Amino acid sequence: MAPSIATEVGRFRLGYVADPVVGHESYRGMLAIPYLRWAPGGKWSVISLRFRCITPDCKHEYHGKYNTLPGDRPRMYNTIALAQNDDTIGICEGEIDAITATACGIPSVGIPGVEAWAKHFREPFLGYEKVFIFADNDDNGQGKSFAKKLASDLPNALVVPAMEGEDVNSMVVKHGKSALTERVA
Ligand SMILES: [Zn+2]
Repeated sequence: MAPSIATEVGRFRLGYVADPVVGHESYRGMLAIPYLRWAPGGKWSVISLRFRCITPDCKHEYHGKYNTLPGDRPRMYNTIALAQNDDTIGICEGEIDAITATACGIPSVGIPGVEAWAKHFREPFLGYEKVFIFADNDDNGQGKSFAKKLASDLPNALVVPAMEGEDVNSMVVKHGKSALTERVA
């Protein structure tokens, strides 16, 4: 069964931009994805936001499918996954895939696109037995170049391609959690 959407919306603090603050009007109607960091004091803080257009059939002419706040630098999404004491971890291209993989029981961080991967992101992954690189397979090879780039930086990487024509999220939505978990078993 696919993980409950309601639970994940709560856990990842996803929001909907109904009434934007001044200067954020272009994000109206979009899904707001907060970048959360867990402070040692026991509090979540939002260090940044990204916005995903969720208007059906939108061609994204005047905005991107994903939108970063002006001047923000690329960040790693869901870094709390790194704080879990596991031998393995996943890296997805994008926030939604990271949410889906984590909800399927594979703690995963998200990188907002291949261009966003930075050399200093490498270090925290080196102690893992295996790092699953979830490669989208719905985007004319973009997912493959993402996986190739990361795998060349991480000696413990294992590239896990999605089914033909799918990304992590669409695959789990269509075929259930096992479609993903069986790929890393
Ligand atoms: Zn759009």
